[in-house]
Amino acid sequence: MLTGAIDGGGTKILTGVVADDGTVVARREELVVSRAIPDYFARCAAMLKACVAEAGTTLEALRGVGMSVPGMTDGRQVFGSPSAGWGAFSALEQLQPLLGLPAERIRFENDINACALAELRLGGGGDDFVWLTVSTGNGGAVVANGLLVRGHRFCAGELGHLKVEFDHPYRCGCGAMGCLEAHASGPAIARMAHEAGLSVDAAGCAALVREGNVTARRIYDRAGLYLGRALAQVANALNIEKAYLGGGVSRSIDLLMPALRTEFDRLVLPQCRDVTIERTRLGCDASLLGAASLFGNA
Ligand SMILES: [Zn+2]
Repeated sequence: MLTGAIDGGGTKILTGVVADDGTVVARREELVVSRAIPDYFARCAAMLKACVAEAGTTLEALRGVGMSVPGMTDGRQVFGSPSAGWGAFSALEQLQPLLGLPAERIRFENDINACALAELRLGGGGDDFVWLTVSTGNGGAVVANGLLVRGHRFCAGELGHLKVEFDHPYRCGCGAMGCLEAHASGPAIARMAHEAGLSVDAAGCAALVREGNVTARRIYDRAGLYLGRALAQVANALNIEKAYLGGGVSRSIDLLMPALRTEFDRLVLPQCRDVTIERTRLGCDASLLGAASLFGNA
């Protein structure tokens, strides 16, 4: 069977029709033109309908429609999204009239949680793992005993706000000091590069490391150290088997890994050290596939 999927991001919307084995049989991708909630959801619905037509099926014939959203959600309500600029609202009330499907065939999930679900069901799998996005921000999700951990208020897994620097902390977007996101995200790497006199972003800094630039190498070592510090805390708390890294900066995981692994091994309990840390193989489709996998088989 086929499932409809919407990856609703703060800057980009991706929609698809996804087969049970994770094959995306039709897809659309657009930059977000309006973040006004009615406009945004109308755009999502129109893009999904175009995918459904292209796949030669109908909305009614789908298992259902799953949507990942860039904020906390209980599956129907969104409790606000800083990246999209949304307050609290009912996502179901927005999408359901546009699709004309019964409420039980529309589900919502946080975007990073969706990535972890995709990893669980269609990716590298594992019963105990974390997903860590390293991008414009650092988001996380936790799978324990084979189940996604949503938490008391649906905000479990905020690994980007683990504190990793106490002596020279930077202020995070959340308002606190020393968060992982403030020290090992794309913007954090770019900031370290600028402070060191390099006018490059995170990707440019990675290119310099590959050319043998010693200053750039130090910056990636620093970011890797912070990631290792955060993951060691997670491993001690959860005894994870794997940590999957996603997001743009994870393309340079080979540059991060030496310092990451050294710091991780230094801080983790010996009995919790057996952790595979690798880049997701789901690429940019992780959140879309996770939205599809909200209906079980897909
Ligand atoms: Zn923070």
